[in-house]
Amino acid sequence: MFKKILIANRGEIALRVQRACREMGIKAVMVYSEADRDAKYVRLADEAVCIGPASSTHSYLNMPAIISAAEVTDAEAIHPGYGFLSENADFAERVEKSGFTFIGPTPDSIRLMGDKVSAKQAMIRAGVPCVPGSEGALPDDPVVIKRTAKAVGYPVIIKAAGGGGGRGMRVVHTEAALLHAVQTTKAEAGAAFGNAEVYMEKFLQNPRHIEIQILADTHRNAVYLGERDCSMQRRHQKVIEEAPAPGIPRRLIEKIGERCATACKKIGYRGAGTFEFLFENGEFYFIEMNTRVQVEHPVTEWISGVDIVRTQISVAAGEKLPFTQRQVQLRGHAIECRINAEDAYKFTPSPGRITTWHAPGGPGVRVDSHAYTNYFVPPNYDSMIGKIIVHGDTREQALARMRTALAETVIEGIKTNIPLHRELMVDASFVAGGTNIHYLEEWLSQRER
Ligand code: ADP
Repeated sequence: MFKKILIANRGEIALRVQRACREMGIKAVMVYSEADRDAKYVRLADEAVCIGPASSTHSYLNMPAIISAAEVTDAEAIHPGYGFLSENADFAERVEKSGFTFIGPTPDSIRLMGDKVSAKQAMIRAGVPCVPGSEGALPDDPVVIKRTAKAVGYPVIIKAAGGGGGRGMRVVHTEAALLHAVQTTKAEAGAAFGNAEVYMEKFLQNPRHIEIQILADTHRNAVYLGERDCSMQRRHQKVIEEAPAPGIPRRLIEKIGERCATACKKIGYRGAGTFEFLFENGEFYFIEMNTRVQVEHPVTEWISGVDIVRTQISVAAGEKLPFTQRQVQLRGHAIECRINAEDAYKFTPSPGRITTWHAPGGPGVRVDSHAYTNYFVPPNYDSMIGKIIVHGDTREQALARMRTALAETVIEGIKTNIPLHRELMVDASFVAGGTNIHYLEEWLSQRER
């Protein structure tokens, strides 16, 4: 096992990985930007190295600075967390070429899955069902584009091959709007992702977002840890996640889960990963794979009893998965609310000093956050400051525990989206379960009126 790991991230996930290292008796090196200098998890680290100014381009995305930090501290492996460089194949490659272990899949797997066109093609070959659409990237020929859209059937969605984070997508309802939409998405994709390739999918009207968590080792073992329902989204960003997904028969999950595990073996995948699907009328349609640990991993950890971060580290060290598919037993229900430093209804960011931080507790409550009283939320990064996760024997109990947890939470000095979560936890449709990906935005626009 590794003796020392460098954590190339910040905030709650940096702390989460640091905790896993502590538990495993591994020393953790934190890298930090000038804006995160005083964060408690940086102070608590075994070692900490400043890698640049607040701007993430010059710090958390600064590959040479991160690799030098690993060199000077004698770290053996680098955990990239999520976001930043976690799905950057060039980074993974540079890490390995410099003699360190990248805690994640191979650069080739990241590259294959990072391009959504090649990912879809690989999934089709591996027998994973995909959203109907163009075969590969769209060509320039307007006649072919129009013909493809007609065959797929309107509405269609134009998506950037290199897109991510809910950006680089455009829905098209009519042929009249098609070519302009393709051109605009291409131009935006080229500027934002350095890859102007786009592809077309049928735009599903009322799907749910259901994803399968997998873990794979380097000995050709791969298991799935059930599913998560992440349909509560705003602007394609997840707000609430839960596991299992309400109302989906287990045999459907098992069938798709098996396909995902098999696909992992086929592509030689290692580490943690997530297959994201849209689910409509009883069918799963693959949309993309995330080749890293996800924000919402705790809900799966709770129902499965598997520590995903710990497993990432041990399989990166070459160990076998410590359990088989048959040993994975899912129990109860878990829900996660993402806590953002933002206005609960206008969604404007609200960085600044937290004057009071009182976290909830009690049975079945987990809080993953690096924040505390007097912590300053820097304006430079994502607004998520933590997550409240609850578990119960049933979904009803989990909901009741989340309501109590949210009622106990006191955060002062900045605005947060806690009031939004409080409202949603008593909303009749959410409580009933099975809302689709448009539900939250519709709910928000109703609320405005
Ligand atoms: P990203 O990598 O930016 O997260 P995804 O491909 O995962 O992009 O899509 C993000 C979200 O966009 C999905 O969760 C869903 O809400 C919506 N979406 C993507 N593709 C489709 C589609 N074919 N039909 C309907 N909604 C879609």
